[in-house]
Amino acid sequence: MFNLILFGPPGSGKGTQSEKLIAKYNLKHLSTGDLLRSEIAKKTTLGLEAKKFMDKGQLVPDEVVIGMISTALDQNPDAAGFLFDGFPRTSKQAEALDNLLKLKNLSINVMLALDVTEEELVKRLLKRGETSGRPDDNNDQVIRTRIHEYHKKTSPVADHYKKSNKVVLVKGEGSVDNIFNSLAKEIDVRLVKV
Ligand code: ADP
Repeated sequence: MFNLILFGPPGSGKGTQSEKLIAKYNLKHLSTGDLLRSEIAKKTTLGLEAKKFMDKGQLVPDEVVIGMISTALDQNPDAAGFLFDGFPRTSKQAEALDNLLKLKNLSINVMLALDVTEEELVKRLLKRGETSGRPDDNNDQVIRTRIHEYHKKTSPVADHYKKSNKVVLVKGEGSVDNIFNSLAKEIDVRLVKV
């Protein structure tokens, strides 16, 4: 089992790199953003509740996303490993994830943190908003709120994993392939040890 957290602010390229990483390493992709958008598309109670927060750029309550991840872990007992994308996003979520994994005798192997300047993030998100159809991508104020939420609530998650020496910072600017190669290199050195 190899369990990886792909970390970084909104617009840092987690979704793009996740797609490539799950294909190369045969990991199960668990993106809370995608899971929430799928609930919204199906108009479930959970989705309609989450949408109120997402449209404003705010984080969805911890219990909601922790419950979704717990279900997803139970639904994939045979996975070769998990790639967590957009989760954990608060210290409380990080503690819950550690506990959920422990119950299954698992743990996080590494957190790869994509490093991108704020100016570049806003540029990318506004550009993505032109085509993604995501209501949280085409409003400057909502984007600023998402980045603010990241600094206030999500960046402490990196400190949580730094305590156990699991965080590796990777430059998230440059070509998609170059960034992918940097991420793969970090995974490969750790896979040897598993
Ligand atoms: P991005 O990384 O571009 O912000 P995501 O698809 O990961 O995009 O998330 C979109 C929105 O979904 C977030 O702004 C937030 O409202 C909600 N969300 C996703 N993951 C979480 C999470 N782990 N905890 C709380 N809210 C979340």
